[in-house]
Amino acid sequence: MKAVFLDRDGVLNKPVIRDGKPYPPASAAEFEIYPDAFASVQKLRKMMFQICVVTNQPDVARGATTAAEVDAMHELLRNALSIEHFYVCCHDDADQCECRKPKPGLLTRAAADLRICLSGSYLVGDRWRDVECGHAAGCTTIFIDRGYTEPLRREPHFRALDLAEAVAIIVSRERHSA
Ligand SMILES: [Mg+2]
Ligand SMILES: [Zn+2]
Repeated sequence: MKAVFLDRDGVLNKPVIRDGKPYPPASAAEFEIYPDAFASVQKLRKMMFQICVVTNQPDVARGATTAAEVDAMHELLRNALSIEHFYVCCHDDADQCECRKPKPGLLTRAAADLRICLSGSYLVGDRWRDVECGHAAGCTTIFIDRGYTEPLRREPHFRALDLAEAVAIIVSRERHSA
């Protein structure tokens, strides 16, 4: 089984931008799913990929939001996009957990749960932490470049402007490898 691991904020839903950097929406009421998300996820599912959301939500550890609020946002994604699998790191750096991206813990946990072959899987994200995490897990990495004012630390395998373009890359790559 192969998977496409999708970061959440900046991939499936609009982040809040402050000083050129993305932040998660503060509440489910402010959560806005990108218009290209539905068709993109459908295409991936048709190609028999498992779809897993993998997201850092350190505001839970910081006390700025609650796990219940994060769950409420994921309920919106579950309903709108029929995504079943959510892997969330609610820790901050100080917790020294194994799951906060750039560490690959969320991906290795999903791989164990769902019998996913990581080398045949993709990671799509909009920040350096996503790209590092995908590399660390041995996935093909696709960076969605939304023009933030933070540099990447390692080159991704591919770059895209949005999720629809990332999915087009996956479609074309799978076609050539089939
Ligand atoms: Mg993101
Ligand atoms: Zn964690």
